[in-house]
Amino acid sequence: MPTNSVDLFVIGGGSGGVRAARIAAGYGAKVMLAEEFRMGGTCVIRGCVPKKLYVYASRFAHEFGAARGFGFDVTEPGFNWQALVAAKEKEITRLEEIYALTQSNAGVKVIKSRAVLHSANAVRLLDTGKIIEAKYILVATGGKPNMPDISGIEHAITSNEAFDLPEFPKRIVIAGGGYIAVEFAGIFAGLGADVTLIYRGGNILRGFDEGMRKGLLLSYEKRGIKFVFDDVFSHIEKTADGLVGYTKKGVALQADQIMFAIGRSPNSHCLGLEEAGVNTDKNGAIIVNDYSSTNIPNIYAVGDVTNRVALTPVAIREGHAVADNIFGGKTVKIDYSNIPTAVFSSPEIGTVGLTEQQACELFEQVDVYKTTFRPMKATVSGQDELVIMKLLVDAKTDIVLGAHILGDGAGEMAQLLGVILKMGGKKSDFDATMALHPSSAEELVTMRVPFAKFFK
Ligand code: FAD
Ligand code: NDP
Repeated sequence: MPTNSVDLFVIGGGSGGVRAARIAAGYGAKVMLAEEFRMGGTCVIRGCVPKKLYVYASRFAHEFGAARGFGFDVTEPGFNWQALVAAKEKEITRLEEIYALTQSNAGVKVIKSRAVLHSANAVRLLDTGKIIEAKYILVATGGKPNMPDISGIEHAITSNEAFDLPEFPKRIVIAGGGYIAVEFAGIFAGLGADVTLIYRGGNILRGFDEGMRKGLLLSYEKRGIKFVFDDVFSHIEKTADGLVGYTKKGVALQADQIMFAIGRSPNSHCLGLEEAGVNTDKNGAIIVNDYSSTNIPNIYAVGDVTNRVALTPVAIREGHAVADNIFGGKTVKIDYSNIPTAVFSSPEIGTVGLTEQQACELFEQVDVYKTTFRPMKATVSGQDELVIMKLLVDAKTDIVLGAHILGDGAGEMAQLLGVILKMGGKKSDFDATMALHPSSAEELVTMRVPFAKFFK
């Protein structure tokens, strides 16, 4: 095969791209991957990983408070934002190097360049202009944060910049009510900032179970986070004292930083998709079938650029399946049901399956098991914390349809609840399982009487 010709060309070295490249190379394919920024993609460089590190950091202040209740003499510990940013940078640089090494060890040729489709069978590297012919092309270019078209928007930041701010913002206003807005509100508040969240609806985390949304809102308010609901920014002005964000309803919010977390869009612009004839939808998402194949049979797309489920493990699984299907002689179709997910707020939300609303819409009879309790740690620490757990059960079959937790470790619990729901676990399986005492999770197997019963 000529040097400028490969079996698979992967555009994007993020979660989906690196997995597809490595697995395809493992099957013996000649693979080239282009990454224009940093290997590892959004998750590793400016998403899940640095976010979780900052979440850990943000929880210490609360823990120092709790420690006093347990007899520790903790005076006001200082916090150094620059030290946190540097520690984060060191860790993601380490991971970035591992990602690059894993690719080269697998035989993947990694090119540091932006790459675009030249035709249905060729990719152009923008740094050299070189054309690479490819039997198959995988587009795994991820997504980018949305910004509103309002005056003064150039003064605002997104999650991309939030990780590396030169100064810690003492006052920050975050626009949005989804994963990123809620997680960053918790991070900055935990680290000591004055945080206001502005959201166009009536409560954060639309689409999550109502009980968890209300519980988290209450916890956040207790931690001092302020909320402006049913409103959005109309414009932003820079002043001698920082920034002022004006809302459509006439509220003026002063801040050192204004951050937008109002969703993300597929990274599909100027990629040469039109030249190659690849179809996208009205949001720019590449349209794919169940096997991540586009309308052009040898061009595939996975991850956020397809706007299916924008989560790292999903992009990874989609990338793996593409490699299996093209080079491994397999027929792998992704099952998108019962994907466990967590919102890394403090306290955390962990969830899998249907919400109460969805279960009641889809099933004839639903039993709702719910418990709200003060965790053991909060009794001695004196902190005003509540844990909420909910199981939704199809009363006819006894199958658990959804599980939702608000509290410490909720994400970890949701991962394992995901296994149970995937297996079609029944409420009787929970009942038959011995409790693990003392733990919060034991409440999941000791809820005996439905809190509510719904009939259609
Ligand atoms: P990406 O990881 O975005 O990778 C795409 C790569 O392509 C990038 O590196 C980009 O530089 C490169 N690229 C783009 N265009 C080109 C081009 N033309 N040429 C060359 N390279 C190009 N998900 C979770 O599951 N859990 C979490 O806790 C979580 N937290 C998140 C926190 C934040 C702040 C954000 C923004 C996202 C988070 N996500 C989380 C979502 C997760 O990061 C994404 O779903 C995941 O990274 C998608 O992987 P991907 O391969 O589709 O794209
Ligand atoms: P989300 O889709 O989660 O939330 C977007 C938020 O912005 C919603 O509250 C939405 O409101 C609001 N919004 C949308 N458009 C506007 C607008 N024009 N004006 C004002 N508000 C608006 O997106 P995020 O940006 O928070 O995160 C992107 C994705 O990344 C997530 O959906 C998730 O898949 C992934 N992610 C996962 C994480 C995890 O697993 N822990 C963490 C972070 C990100 P409304 O609800 O009313 O539409």
